[in-house]
Amino acid sequence: MKSLSRHVERIIEPQAVVEGAGVKLKRSIGTQTLDYLDPFLLLDHFSSTDRRDYEAGFPLHPHRGIETVTYVLSGRVSHKDTLGSAGTIGPGDVQWMTAGRGIMHEEMPQVSPEGIAGFQLWVNLPAKLKMTAPRYQNILSAEVPEIEKENGVRIRVITGEVEGTAGPVSGIAANPIYMDVSVPSQTTFTQAIDSSNTAFAYVFQGEAKFSAADGAEQVVQSPKLVVLSAGDFVEVATADNPARFLLVSGRPLREPVARYGPFVMNTREEIEEALDDLRRGTFV
Ligand code: FE
Repeated sequence: MKSLSRHVERIIEPQAVVEGAGVKLKRSIGTQTLDYLDPFLLLDHFSSTDRRDYEAGFPLHPHRGIETVTYVLSGRVSHKDTLGSAGTIGPGDVQWMTAGRGIMHEEMPQVSPEGIAGFQLWVNLPAKLKMTAPRYQNILSAEVPEIEKENGVRIRVITGEVEGTAGPVSGIAANPIYMDVSVPSQTTFTQAIDSSNTAFAYVFQGEAKFSAADGAEQVVQSPKLVVLSAGDFVEVATADNPARFLLVSGRPLREPVARYGPFVMNTREEIEEALDDLRRGTFV
């Protein structure tokens, strides 16, 4: 079988948004420009050393019908939820939360001189699992395997399997592969990606070259989201600057989406039901 390189399908400029009680974020999935990249519903990038940008945090709020993945690069985020779990995640740590039929939680970035940086990705749940039992997996940085290649490329495997190394997050419906890739200058990184998966790269440090639809090189400067075309591998190269990016792929659900804030279901009726449950106090 001939292999097909995934090229740049779209480049998305992250949008400045204010979320929660007043947290400044850069959003690249879940906007009018890119509403949904099946199965990915939202990608937020938070990065600031100014406490006013993040200290208000995300006080108690509900979720239903999705999974959220929080990956911290620097600083710390404390959380508490209606499952009775509470804790703090720090640099390199991951929290994978399956909201299922309903969870309420708070997510509060902690004020510190290094500020806060990281990502939150929302992954859709298939119709048959939208009302599943909520759960969460907390993964410490030390549990995240790191592959170091001969050419100096480093890959932290958050979930999925990369060259026989499996990430610590498991049992995720969309079968996602989530990696944090660091590529030194003057280096080429090649990665196979299952051809049935949707895939994107989020370049958050430096700049990297991807292939364009016509075979030419396309330079992408951080921060940008690169939606990748169909294919079975991707090639990313650097010039004088190193680059760091998330490379994420997952199986599309191809189901109807009804979304309203923190609720993502298949129909309007199911959204109404979630709101009713919240009003009646029967949500969790
Ligand atoms: Fe939340």
